[in-house]
Amino acid sequence: MTDESGRRRLGIMGGTFDPIHNGHLVAAEEARWQFGLDEVVFVPAGRPWQKRDVTPAEDRYLLTMLATARNPHFSVSRLEIDRGGPTYTLETLRALRDFHGADAELLFITGADAVLEILTWKDPEALLDTARFIAATRPEYDLGRLDLGRFGDRVSVIQIPALAISSTDIRRRVREGRPIQYLVPPEVAAYIDERQLYRGPEGAGGQDGSSKPSGAGQEAGDGD
Ligand code: ATP
Ligand code: MG
Repeated sequence: MTDESGRRRLGIMGGTFDPIHNGHLVAAEEARWQFGLDEVVFVPAGRPWQKRDVTPAEDRYLLTMLATARNPHFSVSRLEIDRGGPTYTLETLRALRDFHGADAELLFITGADAVLEILTWKDPEALLDTARFIAATRPEYDLGRLDLGRFGDRVSVIQIPALAISSTDIRRRVREGRPIQYLVPPEVAAYIDERQLYRGPEGAGGQDGSSKPSGAGQEAGDGD
């Protein structure tokens, strides 16, 4: 579907995807359906500045590829991974806008709390100028609390029933030997098993056998 001006509508789903799970996929598909998106591009973060120990980018990239392969409207971008270093939403959105030019309207899909954080701290005008934002909340969430009205029609809310799923919980489950089946696609569960991801203590670093030092000045956090 294209918008009134004939432009393609691209959903952008940024995240660490460590690992990607069904909450991400449900949110992307719901946004695609509600906003008539032509495509949703998943953009795994290269090296998120606010998270300490993250699984190697190539593993997260492959997990994201495996999880999205069966949806013809989903694709994965290496933009942030190939750029390396810390990544920022505005930079990514600008790169995508420059790449797609005026032919595409960008809609950035993210958790409602993350949207607020992004738009509070990081040059909201420039962000809202570059993309619309779709904020995912759980169905019973009190939307009034978010005060998103001040952003006008540049920020919309969608309700996602699978919102309770998180990568943090998936990693903890693997570590504790609890099931992750039905929380992630089967291909993701198989890859995690095959590569023995998330077996060490949380914060132990890479799963490639080496224990990476954690990045300087990084804090655990969510969102952008
Ligand atoms: P972590 O637990 O490590 O923070 P996460 O599950 O939040 O991971 P991210 O990679 O941080 O996953 O999230 C990527 C994007 O997806 C963010 O915008 C986040 O708000 C959103 N998101 C995360 N989980 C869900 C979910 N269950 N439903 C809808 N959106 C989600
Ligand atoms: Mg998160």
